[in-house]
Amino acid sequence: MPRPGLRVRALRKIRKKIPGGASIIFYFKKKPSPVKCAKCGKPLHGINPKSKKKTDRKVFRIYGGYLCSACAKEEIKAKARGG
Ligand SMILES: [Zn+2]
Repeated sequence: MPRPGLRVRALRKIRKKIPGGASIIFYFKKKPSPVKCAKCGKPLHGINPKSKKKTDRKVFRIYGGYLCSACAKEEIKAKARGG
């Protein structure tokens, strides 16, 4: 039984064989999934959630951080045309 701090679902577990033949479980922190466009599902550019700079964590545009540039362009055009 692992120690209490490791008995959480927040950690990724990988079972590996060690040279002696026994298999042990390695615990890793889970990586955050990349931010994706809400319309087409492509990963968004210019967003690094781990960065300390605010300008690296956000996209300062309408629909920034929600839609990719191509989908934002389409959305803005559709809104302007009254769609
Ligand atoms: Zn998109």
